[in-house]
Amino acid sequence: MDTLLKTPGRFSCLGEAFYSHVTPEPLPDPYLVSVNESLAGELGLDAQHFRDKATLELLAGNRVTDQMQPLSMLYAGHQFGHFVPQLGDGRALMLGELRDRHGALWELQLKGAGMTLYSRSGDGRAVLRSTIREYLGSEAMHGLGIPTTRALCIVGSDEEVYREQIETAAVLARLAPSHLRFGSFEVFYYRDQHEPLQVLGDYLLAHHYPALRDEENPYLALFREVVSRTARLLAQWQLVGFAHGVLNTDNMSMLGLTLDYGPYGFLDAYDPGFICNHSDHEGRYAFDRQPAIGRWNLTCLAQAMLPLFAEEAERAVEMAQDALDAYESAFMDCYSQGMRAKLGLTVRREEDHRLVTGLLDIMKGQAADYTRTFRALADFRTEDEGASCPAADEFRDRDAFRAWAKGYAARLRGEGSQDEARRRAMNRVNPKYVLRNYLAQQAIAQAQNGHYGEIERLRKLLAHPFDEQPGNQAYAAVPPDWADSISVSCSS
Ligand code: AMP
Ligand code: MG
Repeated sequence: MDTLLKTPGRFSCLGEAFYSHVTPEPLPDPYLVSVNESLAGELGLDAQHFRDKATLELLAGNRVTDQMQPLSMLYAGHQFGHFVPQLGDGRALMLGELRDRHGALWELQLKGAGMTLYSRSGDGRAVLRSTIREYLGSEAMHGLGIPTTRALCIVGSDEEVYREQIETAAVLARLAPSHLRFGSFEVFYYRDQHEPLQVLGDYLLAHHYPALRDEENPYLALFREVVSRTARLLAQWQLVGFAHGVLNTDNMSMLGLTLDYGPYGFLDAYDPGFICNHSDHEGRYAFDRQPAIGRWNLTCLAQAMLPLFAEEAERAVEMAQDALDAYESAFMDCYSQGMRAKLGLTVRREEDHRLVTGLLDIMKGQAADYTRTFRALADFRTEDEGASCPAADEFRDRDAFRAWAKGYAARLRGEGSQDEARRRAMNRVNPKYVLRNYLAQQAIAQAQNGHYGEIERLRKLLAHPFDEQPGNQAYAAVPPDWADSISVSCSS
């Protein structure tokens, strides 16, 4: 690890207008809670070494080598619709960059390694519970093929941290090619500092969007690409039933990654109005509002990037508007295509929209489990019009399902769909396993008692969410009744 973190990283070259140096606060007697062996392998690191004292001290923030210059990034953000002029990494710091086996560079951040210049009233710490949620959440998303920051390991300590109750501290090591956010631009725009905006734009173009440098207007091309990636990301979330929980602009990635896992949740029973964050009283970030919020956040980013698009303000606004207008169709293309794949349809038809909403409506009416229903639909037989399909078991009123199934069967026959080929294709897009809240909660409860096996088990399970995994059927079951009583909030 020491030898891999050779440079403080490319971001640190930008200068102190963009971050502040920070000295991590030592975490007493750190121990390994979990290491992501497969990610360690991709980085050419031996997971065995994560138990070594020297490595643990480094990953806890207790040891900073000469090559590192830990820094916390500056940003602003619209939080629940209100602009906050200065946020920044309040409990995250970047140690430097790692190179993976393919030569790609990754920023290595420690989350929970103590106070920074941007901690405001926070303590700079993360609790074991929240690091486990981010660790498993990001690896579950990666397993599903959804762009995300990655999680390398969790280091724990017996140090007490006070949230709603006393908990223990932990540090999460996370990785991303860049942790830049929409808010990284907003902070300079609202300070009326246009030069750093350009520096950020150039930085992203040079290191993360090199193909766009030759465009006529590279900054506009960059924004268009962020619009497109964000639209696709949001579509992927909706397709898999993921609610982020705190979709503030400071949690929106300039690379289109799922970023900052807090009170997120995967749908159990299908409820479009699902609010996973108990602090979100108005439901601003409810599941079905996410796509619109994605666009709202992009509007904030567009505003902050205006000075880069054109000198003349009016012209810049026109350009931004035009770029933003591509959001809906980019979202819908990805979402409709994804929904067709979830239903095993290979041909595109106008009426498919009705077929999809028809299914979602009865799922909503009967609180059918989102993941299980789609997964079970793979075993639909056209010949019996779904009479033998296990998806019917997800509905209390099977007649509603049967009525829908008739139309579905007709649609499948219309494109000459073959049951077996369709079954295989559907099982590649409808996961059998998602990180249900209660599963994460079980791993957390055990970890709080010093048993970390369930974290490892879930990480491995969720790395292959589309596989049947015969020994793990229980993880695909409907959640137990107590799952309803779990409450997640911003406190982490
Ligand atoms: P979030 O929306 O949870 O990603 O965090 C919003 C802001 O609060 C970010 O600037 C975080 O760095 C900061 N923050 C969250 N928790 C803490 C903490 N325990 N100590 C310091 N800052 C924090
Ligand atoms: Mg955040």
